[in-house]
Amino acid sequence: MTLPDKILIVGLGTTGIATAKFLHSTGRQIALADEKPEGDLAAAIDRLKGIPFTGHFGPHRKEDFLAYPMIVLSPGVDTELPVLKEARQKGIRVIGEIELASLFIKEPIIAITGTNGKTTTTTLIGEIFKKAFGNVFVGGNIGNPLINYVSEGRPAPHVVLEISSFQLETIEAFRPNTAILLNITEDHLDRYRSYKEYKEAKYRIFENQGEEDYALINTNILPVIKGKPKILPFSTVQELSEGAFTKNGSLYVRLRGHEFIYKRDISPLVGIHNTENILTALLTAHIYNIEQAVIEDVLKAFNGLSHRVEHVRTMGGVRFYNDSKATNVGATKRALESMDGKIVLIAGGKDKGGSYQSITEVAGKVKALIVIGEAKEKIIRELGGSVKTYAEDTMEKAVRKAQEITETGDIVLLSPMCSSFDMFQSYKDRGNTFRRIVESL
Ligand code: ADP
Repeated sequence: MTLPDKILIVGLGTTGIATAKFLHSTGRQIALADEKPEGDLAAAIDRLKGIPFTGHFGPHRKEDFLAYPMIVLSPGVDTELPVLKEARQKGIRVIGEIELASLFIKEPIIAITGTNGKTTTTTLIGEIFKKAFGNVFVGGNIGNPLINYVSEGRPAPHVVLEISSFQLETIEAFRPNTAILLNITEDHLDRYRSYKEYKEAKYRIFENQGEEDYALINTNILPVIKGKPKILPFSTVQELSEGAFTKNGSLYVRLRGHEFIYKRDISPLVGIHNTENILTALLTAHIYNIEQAVIEDVLKAFNGLSHRVEHVRTMGGVRFYNDSKATNVGATKRALESMDGKIVLIAGGKDKGGSYQSITEVAGKVKALIVIGEAKEKIIRELGGSVKTYAEDTMEKAVRKAQEITETGDIVLLSPMCSSFDMFQSYKDRGNTFRRIVESL
């Protein structure tokens, strides 16, 4: 595809800025649109110093969007905006930054999606590839836009890419050599019209794959897909003739007639969810012929990431865990499943439109529920009857209540099932606040 000389970039976040810098470096004229008023964008505009651009800030106007032959969207932008619909109808190409970047990438891309576990798995695979090949680009939804790889002009043998459903909505020919779908559970129902639509966005990761590509999919969600990749399933419940699975406390990879066996407990990561993440990392590493000893070294050393079932402190025999990154029911369920004790669960935040009911499947482990944030009433309505519930209006009060009602052997778990933006800047801000309070007890 040849790119036109003038391109409109929508969204002035990290991705939009990186895209603008890249397109400018190729000699193209750029325009930037953001629905925020110019006054709120001063910091972003400052990062574009020295780059000439036309700015369209404030509420989107049709005439701005129809003035360019191509539009590149940042991941946060709703693809169904009326101005974008109209642009498409007029024949204007609307793509995302991932599609744009991938036009310039020849190296094999390993792309990871799923409702939960993307960042953990992307990081783990990145570490294994770094150790094996000395150089790898790790980016995408993990905070380092893919377009940076193209801009940097420092080729690596492989590209490891975390990709969200939002980013998958705006691909056309994007074709990962290995695509991983970790899991799908309800999320983002504030953005999608239905769960079906959300799932379909995720399945797009496979749609351009050919016979020489691989699709790694959990056996419990095997979908019908459009592409023609070789499917390598993974499972924590069944043995597989090809793929990755668990048996008698070990992890097995069967691939191209070979079998590799790993002890599960060489990894400090706990929980079935992390077993699944590790299985996909093992499979991926063996697809690219990485040696078992290299993989084992990385597995032993990888302690997981902050804010994902992270142990903060043990006090008076009570363990405190920060799982602030659990922004949907699926993640919280997995956190509860991975713990062995009576749990006081602190949950709530900004509701995303789904139901909390499925958490009752593991309610037996919950000694009490403490709810905070905007979603408080909804959670109480849906779950209040099944477990002893308290409502608090600050994190501080929630933690103090948890301390009051726990005894030796119990666990206090912050795992919100909601996003953080009602009370905090981000999930990190929420997790750090929780940690500070716990440390001050
Ligand atoms: P993502 O990037 O998809 O949000 P993270 O690795 O940041 O994934 O983890 C987000 C949350 O999901 C954390 O609470 C973590 O404990 C949980 N989690 C991690 N892996 C899985 C998985 N495979 N299945 C379900 N939950 C998971």
